[in-house]
Amino acid sequence: MLKIYNTLTRKVEKFEPLNPPEVKMYSCGPTVYDFSHIGHMRRYVGDDILVRVLKYNGYNVKNVMNITDVGHLTSDQDTGEDKMEKGAEEYGMSVWGIAKKFEEQFFQSSESLNIQKPSKVMKATGYIKDQIELVEILEGKGFTYETEDGIYFDTTKFPNYNRLSKQNVEDQKAGARVEIKGKKHLTDFALWKFSPIDHKRQMEWDSPWGKGFPGWHLECSAMSMREFGPTLDIHTGGIDHINIHHTNEIAQSEAATGKEFVRYWVHYAWLLVNGKKMSKSLKNFYTVQEIIEKGYDPIALRYLYLQTHYRQEMNFTFEALEAAQTALNRLKTELAQLGEPKEEFLENEGNFYDAINEDLNMPKALAAVWELINSKENPGAKAAAILKFDKILGLDLDKVVPIERREEVKIEIPKEVFELVKKRAVLRNQGKYHLADQVRHKIRKFGFDTEDKEDEETTVKPIGKKEL
Ligand code: AMP
Ligand code: ZN
Repeated sequence: MLKIYNTLTRKVEKFEPLNPPEVKMYSCGPTVYDFSHIGHMRRYVGDDILVRVLKYNGYNVKNVMNITDVGHLTSDQDTGEDKMEKGAEEYGMSVWGIAKKFEEQFFQSSESLNIQKPSKVMKATGYIKDQIELVEILEGKGFTYETEDGIYFDTTKFPNYNRLSKQNVEDQKAGARVEIKGKKHLTDFALWKFSPIDHKRQMEWDSPWGKGFPGWHLECSAMSMREFGPTLDIHTGGIDHINIHHTNEIAQSEAATGKEFVRYWVHYAWLLVNGKKMSKSLKNFYTVQEIIEKGYDPIALRYLYLQTHYRQEMNFTFEALEAAQTALNRLKTELAQLGEPKEEFLENEGNFYDAINEDLNMPKALAAVWELINSKENPGAKAAAILKFDKILGLDLDKVVPIERREEVKIEIPKEVFELVKKRAVLRNQGKYHLADQVRHKIRKFGFDTEDKEDEETTVKPIGKKEL
């Protein structure tokens, strides 16, 4: 029985979807105005684990993710520039051009991390009509008002607006001010923004209220309702979404339908660097592609993510990534040495499944993997169990070839790897160990590793994904 922490109740609850075995799950996807970094990707690996765990529990999961390609402003208070238009300017491309470029980069990063593609991906610009219709419904029910700037949602008309965030409205008011002319209350938010009079936007649409574009929160309500109807089982996002984005999604969805919008809210904690959130603005970020260029297997990054519970902040360092890489390589070597997998009932297999069902406790699940490896069970049975675990872990363990079959599986060492090994040997002879280490990273990038033992020749061995 799966238990999951629900932000709405602040409790770990039994997971009970509305219509089992169906699970309707919606995730807030990336805003594609710039590169996705490994902070973003921590959150999407979180989704991937959740989906895999749901499937393990026999659920038939439909998971939808949106791509925000319009409407997200630099400030969550409906002011500032449009992130997409600003990004396009910075990169000297059209808005549609950067949307395509960064969506591709996002999915490339996802694939490198073994994140399974969502059942459906919905782009905000593809559903403008649905968004306009939703504003019309809200207008019809008296939840909206017009300002010079756009159509706004009146949050005082929606009872218990802060239900998810549990914020105190008075506290919110202190230290903040309403920056938009005509906006009645601090928490009111834009449903539809008018295009500026003084310049032409690249993305704008006609609407009953004039030319403009949808507010950011609107897309998630409109698209999830289009796909799933009024009620979702699970909605996920980063913790930054609790106070504004998800709070507003609830208000506009429930005001429109009169039904509960989401049963379980799941939020992922930050990836930090030196104690600060990894982010574009602080320039303290790395992309998955950069991690690969530095010679790491992206699956080592996935392993690293799994070492911290999703609700805990995690500080990223290269030392930790290096250690995760070593642990992953060791896991693959141990598995290869267990030989051919043989299905057999193992009592301690249960520890792994208990951990994943206990609010996705992946650190505990990884500990259970190592416990099993170190146990005295039959090696073949251990191998079979670990391969089953990997349906959830997603560490490519199914590509590990048992030691005794290594001879049959011909592994060609590419000539680039030989060149790098030679280069590294020269650098080591010159005492340039730091540079030699950098070359070793490059060798690892090809899925190989090199080792020097005293009085022995340097060896080159396959590591990583396909080769062991
Ligand atoms: P954005 O593209 O800015 O809309 O962000 C996409 C998702 O990534 C959101 O759910 C954010 O909460 C999440 N996110 C952004 N930065 C980080 C970070 N450093 N650690 C974890 N999640 C993040
Ligand atoms: Zn959203």
